[in-house]
Parts: sequence; C-alpha cells; structure tokens
Amino acid sequence: MKEKISKLIALQEFDLKLSGFDQDIEEKQQELTDREQSILDKESSISQYRERAEQLEQRQRDIKAAHEDAGVRIKERQNKMMQVQTSREHQALLKEIEDAKKLIKDTEEQLLQVMEQAEQAEAEAVELENVCAGEKELLAEENEKVAAAVKKLNTRRKTIFNKRNKLAKDVQDSTMKRYDKLLKKRDGLAVVQVVDGVCQGCFMAIPPQQFNEVRKGEQMYSCPTCQRIFYYQAPDDET
Ligand SMILES: [Zn+2]
Repeated sequence: MKEKISKLIALQEFDLKLSGFDQDIEEKQQELTDREQSILDKESSISQYRERAEQLEQRQRDIKAAHEDAGVRIKERQNKMMQVQTSREHQALLKEIEDAKKLIKDTEEQLLQVMEQAEQAEAEAVELENVCAGEKELLAEENEKVAAAVKKLNTRRKTIFNKRNKLAKDVQDSTMKRYDKLLKKRDGLAVVQVVDGVCQGCFMAIPPQQFNEVRKGEQMYSCPTCQRIFYYQAPDDET
C-alpha cells in the first residue's frame, strides 16, 4: 500500500510540474496578447484623433467661408448705401453691416480656437503613433523571446510528461481512473497530505480515528469533504 501511495505522490508531483509549465506558457502568451491589445487600443485612439482633426478642419473651412461671406456682404451693403433714399433703408443697411462686422470678429476668434483644437488633436495622434511604433518594435522582440522561452518550456514539459506517463502505466487502472478524475475535478490536486488531522486540499479537519488510520498508511483513504486521496508524512522529529 505504501508503494502504491508513493507512486501516486510522485504522479501528483509530476502533474503539478506539468500544470506549472502550462501556467508559465499561458502567462507568457497572455503578456503578448496584452501588448497586442495595447497597440490595438492606441491605434483606435489614433484614428479617433485623426477623425476629430478632420472634422475640425472641415469646421475651419466652414468658418472661413462664413467669414468671407460677411466681408462680401459688407462691401455690397456699403455700395448700396449710396443708392438708398430713406433713413429707414439706411438704418437697415447699417444694421446689416454691423452684424456682418460682428460676424467677422466672431469667426476670427472661432477660427483661432478651432485651429488650436485641430492642431492638438493632430499632435495627440502623432504622439500616440510614436508610442505605438515603439510598442510594435518591442512586441516583435518579445515575440521572439517568448517563442524561444515557450520552446524551452515545452521541451522540459515533454520530459516530465513522458516520465509521468511511464509512471502512470505502473499504477493500477482503477486507481489511475480515480486519480485522473480527482485531478480534473479538484483543480489539479488529487493527492494531498494530512497535517495535524487537517486535509491540505480543502483544509477541513478529519475525524481523529481516520487520521490515525491514514497515519498507519495501510489503506488508501480519501478526504470525506473533498475526496482527495490522503497521504501522511511523519514530521522529521517523529521518525
Ligand atoms: Zn479535503
């Protein structure tokens, strides 16, 4: 029985190592995905800034047109002034000229504002483009590094994987089935120690009688709460 359990312990160690490799590989790939996402986000911001800059440029053209129209209107009204007879007509033209002058003043201010906003949007786009270019370069480097690291991890993983499978062949089929099922169901941890009567998988206390049985190691016991397979390892001073 002790041998059977020690095989399961070794098997569990292999499986923990394997899932450690898997996790390392996943983390490395996640890092790349995060970097890619960061670039995509920036690219989307860049096109938003560019779109805004374009809209502002269109607005500049509209304002300029209104500005020019007002200038033309002033000249027209001034020419008309010579021809009008009544003071009412004269007043009306004066009012139109005043309005157009005010429009010219307003549009000049607006134009300055909009130009400034357009320049700002463009500058934001350019700055982000520079950041993006740097991130892309870095990503290309990281891609290579990660590929090399993952290759190494996979080689080491394969060695462990083969050892694990070789050992698994040595374990009884029914036990193996139970072990694999637990491994899947219990987050990669099927075989656990009991320390001071507490399951190290779910950290629930087990009845003292069962703890004594586990300590003897004559049979395979499972945690009544999480069903993980128990083993007991005497503390150094006890042996
Ligand atoms: Zn448990």
